[in-house]
Parts: sequence; structure tokens; C-alpha cells
Amino acid sequence: MTDRKGPTIGVARAVEIYLEMVGIRSLFRGDHEPIKMNELWNHASGSNANDIEKSELPLNIRVQEHKFSQNADAWRKATVMALDRFVTLLVDPSLMSEAGKGRGPDAKLANFVLAHEFSHLALDHFAQSASGKNFKLTKRSNGYANLAPTAEELEANMAAVFLLCGPMLATWEGSAKELADRACCDVYSVEKFLRMVRTAAFKEELDRRQSTNERVVL
Ligand SMILES: [Zn+2]
Repeated sequence: MTDRKGPTIGVARAVEIYLEMVGIRSLFRGDHEPIKMNELWNHASGSNANDIEKSELPLNIRVQEHKFSQNADAWRKATVMALDRFVTLLVDPSLMSEAGKGRGPDAKLANFVLAHEFSHLALDHFAQSASGKNFKLTKRSNGYANLAPTAEELEANMAAVFLLCGPMLATWEGSAKELADRACCDVYSVEKFLRMVRTAAFKEELDRRQSTNERVVL
């Protein structure tokens, strides 16, 4: 899996991320239910952050409202700061409320940005770096898209799509647009990773890992 001229993620790692994110998702929502990321962040930071905190994200999570600037696009920004196991999501309140709307282009982008930040935690990227992760948006002719400058950013984009779309992604036969609408996720990113999960290499590796997991459980 590669961005043009960008970082690369191997199929084995992509499948590992898929299984990880689908597993986390299943603690919060049914396979076919959409996720509103403002709810997931609030759930993970709440005092009753039971399942996720105990089993998947042993972190002390806080959500803090933050105005990044007066710039018109500043509401699209969120940053996660981590120190040891203490994690703070700095987020413009408009981004959280937009994600909660569940439909429309702004809601899809907001949900994706918040899922991207959440994915850095889920994939334990902070264990590898002490700095905050900034979600960088680049303007494209068709709106905004996140171009991953590093493998970690590409992993977080991939994981965000897996988190929002869930196992539906691997069996989806419709268009990327339909799935993005249903999962409230950035269309460009859904299209990109839908293409990846439809490759024979991804399917074979997923089948292999799932049958291995079943044997371990039995
Ligand atoms: Zn990031």
C-alpha cells in the first residue's frame, strides 16, 4: 500500500491494522452501525470508559476544546498530545459538533479527522514518538485530502477508514461514495482503501490471519 511517491505499508501490516481497528470498533458499535467520532472520543474520555480503556486503550484520555486560529479552515484541525499514558485531544468545538451531524461533506471530513487522531492512539504511535501528531490537510481541486507524509500518517489514514467502515469494507460491493455516506467517512480515503482491500493479496492475507485466529481460539 503506497501513496504516490509517499511511504509504503506492506500487506501483512495492513491486515494487522484492519483486524486491530475492527476489534476496537466492535467494543463500541455493531458491525453495520456508523460511528460518530465525537461520541467515541467522549466515551473513551468519560469516567465510564470501561471496555475500550481496559482492554484496548489503557490510557488516561481527555478531550479539551481549543481554538487553533481565526483562520476559516482552522475548525478542521485536531491534535493529540501524549505524555506517558496521559493523552489530550485538542479539538475545535466545531469539529466535534460537525462529526456528530453524521451526514454532509463537512461531517464526513470531521469524522475522518477525529478517527485519524484516534487511530494514532490505537496503533500506539505515541510509543514511538514524544511529539504531538498534527493532522495536515492539503487543498486539492476536489476539496481537501490528507496526503500522508510518513508511514505513521498513512497508517492513521488507513486505520481511520477501517474504524469508520468496519468489516463492511471487506465485503462491500457498492461504490466508495455509498460506503462513505453510510460510514460518514471521507470519500477519497474510502475509495483508496476500498481498492486495497479488494486486491487478491489483501484478501488472501486476511483469510490466512482469520483462519489462524480461529484455530487459536479453538
Ligand atoms: Zn496524524
